[in-house]
Amino acid sequence: MPRALVVEDEANIRDLVCLHLGFEGIECVPIGDGRDAIAVAAREPVDIVVLDLMLPGADGIAVCRAIRRSPVNSDVPILMLTARSDESDTVLGLESGADDYVTKPFGIRELVARVRALLRRPRGSGGGAGRAEEFGRPVAIRGLEIDPARRRVRVDGREVEVTAQEFALLYLLASHPGIVYSREALLSRIWTDDTHVTPRSVDTLVKRLRHKIEADPARPAYVLTVWGAGYKFADAG
Ligand code: CA
Repeated sequence: MPRALVVEDEANIRDLVCLHLGFEGIECVPIGDGRDAIAVAAREPVDIVVLDLMLPGADGIAVCRAIRRSPVNSDVPILMLTARSDESDTVLGLESGADDYVTKPFGIRELVARVRALLRRPRGSGGGAGRAEEFGRPVAIRGLEIDPARRRVRVDGREVEVTAQEFALLYLLASHPGIVYSREALLSRIWTDDTHVTPRSVDTLVKRLRHKIEADPARPAYVLTVWGAGYKFADAG
């Protein structure tokens, strides 16, 4: 039976989540305080964490970072609940190591579906882009097809050769269209084990990727620069 840590201080939401995860055969460990969540996650292995952003004790970002450093749960899937559809909350959550997020108010069926999707994802590649890139679902957006299982990219049906890093960058951005990633966030997610990189390396990688996928690399339609902030994939529509 999979076990979920459900960290939420609002009892009615916590109970609702636990009730419905219970229907799915998922055993829940309900927690209402950030510090307690850090303590429990440090000693008890779980299969998934549902983590609210606004918490007493320690906020969701701090909890998320602590879980990623913990010996027993460093690669656990983390689904974050953000209170607003505020982009900065979402970016912060994903930067701190969350795998996915749901914006409040959420439909319980949507939340359950996200939890199930995360539980299906194989564990053990150490977090960050590596996991999403290796095991995520294919993405099709605006004529781009990105298939992680085959590490294949097609632009309007034409196959494009990309390196592992180019693939990781494109897949991360295209999986979250409209979400802005800072250079630092992209660095930590794409070069997970290389310390000899700088934010400039991100710019170089973006440039190389644009030359491969954009019709006009000087006027990109997919990977957009957000001045003073970083990069994002063009919003749908
Ligand atoms: Ca809360």
